[in-house]
Amino acid sequence: MVTPINFLFSSFILFNSESYILMPPKLSLFIKTLGASHVAYSSNDEIRANADYIQGFSGDVTRILYHEVVHSWQWIGNGQAPLGLIEGIADFVRMKLGNKWDDSYYITAWFLDYYNGLRNGFVAKLTKKMGTEYSDDFFDQL
Ligand SMILES: [Zn+2]
Repeated sequence: MVTPINFLFSSFILFNSESYILMPPKLSLFIKTLGASHVAYSSNDEIRANADYIQGFSGDVTRILYHEVVHSWQWIGNGQAPLGLIEGIADFVRMKLGNKWDDSYYITAWFLDYYNGLRNGFVAKLTKKMGTEYSDDFFDQL
């Protein structure tokens, strides 16, 4: 498991230099009720996580926080960058630093796209093989 400190150091290494990122002098985390529409958000040097959401969340909460940590230091084109790109960069860093291939729908989709690019028809053949059982060995067999 990636610890928060390791995540920060590794993300700096991933981006090679502090000059590529917006380095906050400190980063504070607040866990409080935010309303049903928010899981968590980051603003400058503060991350706010929804206590109600986290209380009912059965997954690894650090994954949510890592995503928000990236938002705390990433540049956003002075507010002009598309939201999808901003969110994609946050998930890209999280993915590079510890996600597994089946951690989310999008990551799995990109993983399958990569495999399908190596061998056209891979996803169709994998789906067929999963008709009666599943094994990680299918990836080697196909
Ligand atoms: Zn985000």
